[in-house]
Amino acid sequence: MRGCCPTCGLHFNREPGYFLGAMYISYGLGLAVIVALAVALWLLTRWRLDKIAIWAVLLFLPLAPMLTFLARVLWIYLDQTIDPENQ
Ligand SMILES: [Zn+2]
Repeated sequence: MRGCCPTCGLHFNREPGYFLGAMYISYGLGLAVIVALAVALWLLTRWRLDKIAIWAVLLFLPLAPMLTFLARVLWIYLDQTIDPENQ
């Protein structure tokens, strides 16, 4: 990850532990995706709940890095809305 935005110069990692808040967003997004996958699997297959839970988590795993980036972007937007960094 870059230290700052090449276009506007925004500092991405403002302080140590800055992206800790993004983990909460990532958790919520991850849970929503897993539940959506589980519902889709259940509608398609009507498997037992334990089998659906395992498959939903396995299908979610390749999406985890993208969700981490998305959560960080959302965290930066939230942080800049509440406490903007002036360059
Ligand atoms: Zn920028």
